[in-house]
Amino acid sequence: MKQAEIILKGIVQGVGFRPFVKRTALKFGLYGFVENREFGVRIIAVGDNEPILDFYLELQNKVPPVAKIISHKIIFSDKISFSKKDFYIECSRKNGEISALIPPDIATCEVCLNEIDDPKDRHYNYPFTNCTNCGPRLSIIQSIPYDRKNTTMRDFAMCENCEREYTTIEDRRFHAQPTACPECGPELSLVKNDENGSQLIAQKDAALVEIVKLIKVGEIVAIKGLGGYHLACDAFNIKRVKELRKVKNRPYKPFALMADSISTIEKYCYISQPEREILTGQQKPIVLLKKRNPDILPEIAPEISQLGFMLPYTPLHHLIMKNFKILIMTSGNVADEALEKKNESAQQNLNKITKYFLMYNREIFNRLDDSIIKFADEQKILIRKARGFIPIPIKIENLSDSSQIFAAGADMKGSFGLFKNNLFLGSQYLGDLEFSSNMNFYEETLRYFQKIFEINPQIAIADSHPNYFSTNFAENYADTENLPLVFAYHHLAHIYSVMAEHRLTETIGVSFDGTGFGEDEQILGGEFFLIKKCEHKRVAHLKYQPAVSGNKMSKEPWRMALIYLFDSCPKVIDDFISENKFPQKKLMLEVLKKQSTKLQTSSMGRLFDAVSSLLSICHYNSYEGEAAMKLESLVISENKKPYNWKLDFEKNPWQIDVDQTIREIVNEINNSANKNKISTKFHFTILDIIYQTCQKIRDEFGVENISFSGGVFQNGFLVQIIREKFKNSDFNIYFNEQVPPNDAGIALGQIYAYLMKKNNT
Ligand code: ZN
Ligand code: ZN
Ligand code: FE
Repeated sequence: MKQAEIILKGIVQGVGFRPFVKRTALKFGLYGFVENREFGVRIIAVGDNEPILDFYLELQNKVPPVAKIISHKIIFSDKISFSKKDFYIECSRKNGEISALIPPDIATCEVCLNEIDDPKDRHYNYPFTNCTNCGPRLSIIQSIPYDRKNTTMRDFAMCENCEREYTTIEDRRFHAQPTACPECGPELSLVKNDENGSQLIAQKDAALVEIVKLIKVGEIVAIKGLGGYHLACDAFNIKRVKELRKVKNRPYKPFALMADSISTIEKYCYISQPEREILTGQQKPIVLLKKRNPDILPEIAPEISQLGFMLPYTPLHHLIMKNFKILIMTSGNVADEALEKKNESAQQNLNKITKYFLMYNREIFNRLDDSIIKFADEQKILIRKARGFIPIPIKIENLSDSSQIFAAGADMKGSFGLFKNNLFLGSQYLGDLEFSSNMNFYEETLRYFQKIFEINPQIAIADSHPNYFSTNFAENYADTENLPLVFAYHHLAHIYSVMAEHRLTETIGVSFDGTGFGEDEQILGGEFFLIKKCEHKRVAHLKYQPAVSGNKMSKEPWRMALIYLFDSCPKVIDDFISENKFPQKKLMLEVLKKQSTKLQTSSMGRLFDAVSSLLSICHYNSYEGEAAMKLESLVISENKKPYNWKLDFEKNPWQIDVDQTIREIVNEINNSANKNKISTKFHFTILDIIYQTCQKIRDEFGVENISFSGGVFQNGFLVQIIREKFKNSDFNIYFNEQVPPNDAGIALGQIYAYLMKKNNT
């Protein structure tokens, strides 16, 4: 007989882990106990050597669905201190030094859904049903350890039945912290908020009946979801969808859809195997899927070839969607401000959009937007990381470091990161930090993460951009906390984020995005780096263009078209950009002629904008990335010969010159070649630029890894043709998988770059 102490760390609390340990121990005939500790789960097991080892293996390999083991260890001893002939579950204790990790929110499980649909079950039609394997988690957790009293369920005293399930080890609701039923749990209320003030129209089941009626007669309604409010309306009611666009001040940006079932989605979009798995899995993000034909639901995602679909992920959604095939479910916020999560402020702020609010009395503590994901073949591309994905940590295994770090991220897609015990904990998507409600959200969330994971940073890292809100925040933060502050270059951080995910120490980095501050203080975005540990070299970049008209450049693609035309074929400017339509053209031309602009840009995102405007697809971005997304939507899936371009080795760094590309595109437009063909050829030109330049870099420097990051790699078609092209080459190619390739993924790279430097000096 031996006694073993087993320590498991990771997401092992609040996910049905201890009952699983007990069941497994009994299966192998072991005695002992399991307890939750700050660092995770501690188990004492008594028995023969072999069954203990089998038990240990099974604990790692057969974990409950949402659990995630990040590290495990076992220590055997001949001394047996445990003498009872039983295996039991100890109560939670809190006195250790490191936090256990808390689980993300989990979509409603099958078993709970069956109960909700079963008239004989006490959870019949109950919109807040959940169990050990499903339900709200991060969105309601206020502090650790994860017990009911530390969640927003604290105010709901369990009824006898719930209490019995909660305390019965064999029950599937054993220690399900948010467990609830119609007798004791949260309740729905439907409120109408108009000139007469806020009036309660209906409660509980009646509220559900009424909201369905309201949507059916064409109302736009606000519905409290898991991580925040949604605005919902009938997706087929074109008049209403147009009205929603108007009141939300969102003329073209695609709306997310919720469908009743996967078969409904399949009527509108193609669904691949990985897409199907994530649509129906436990995280239930919005998945961007290819439309079956471009004319499908034209008001939902105008001129975009994809639709964003999700399936119901709470019992409330499930009950509502029994009455509809598809609803618009867009974020309940005002324009670019933070998602509404509180009943009072939702009523206040969304009142211009709707009178009707379907609410409930369980508080949302942590705001979480719907996550958005897409696939390029099998390659997963996270567009927005929030509900269901946060706070799952990323382990940085190859660099052992005891420091605790705060990385501020970037700006347009706010998301910070913290580092402790070789774990990266990234925040959820926090919105554009230019808006004060998002900046408040950022600060709140940082305080929360620090508290819950018990992190006290010894160093702060910020983007080098002097005017980023996140940089200013980090400066103040470092000041107040008396910490050293280091800066990370934007496009390098993008590449380091890929290196962190794939544990690379050297790579070619292809960093393509819209904007970011460079070492030469210019606006970069079309960059090729060579990175070896903490050393980097900017080997090549897209030829600089004068950054005339500052911030307007990214909002108004016609300006970038003008800049490119001015450089490559000034004679045709008037054919493409008329002064009637673009009155500021004259002023722009004067500035260009004077060559007085010192600020320059090598942005790849802006090149996509320019081409999009030349093709008259989009002259003004009404939402970020519109011009590029519309350009991508035109591609046809056949191999096209690229346009000509030039790699100029005379310059240092090498210069990628697309003047000829622009001239050829202009020619083809003048010869009325079709837009699909031009867009496709343009994408293949970018591929050609990447392939040729990477080959040259390898020939020169001998590095065979290539890491791709930056907002441009949200372009699924580009990622797909890169994968095809490189499949049979000697290169190893890497993309972001666990963080978005856009600026929301940058905090991971900021930390990895810092660790690389620290470990090598
Ligand atoms: Zn469940
Ligand atoms: Zn109950
Ligand atoms: Fe960027």
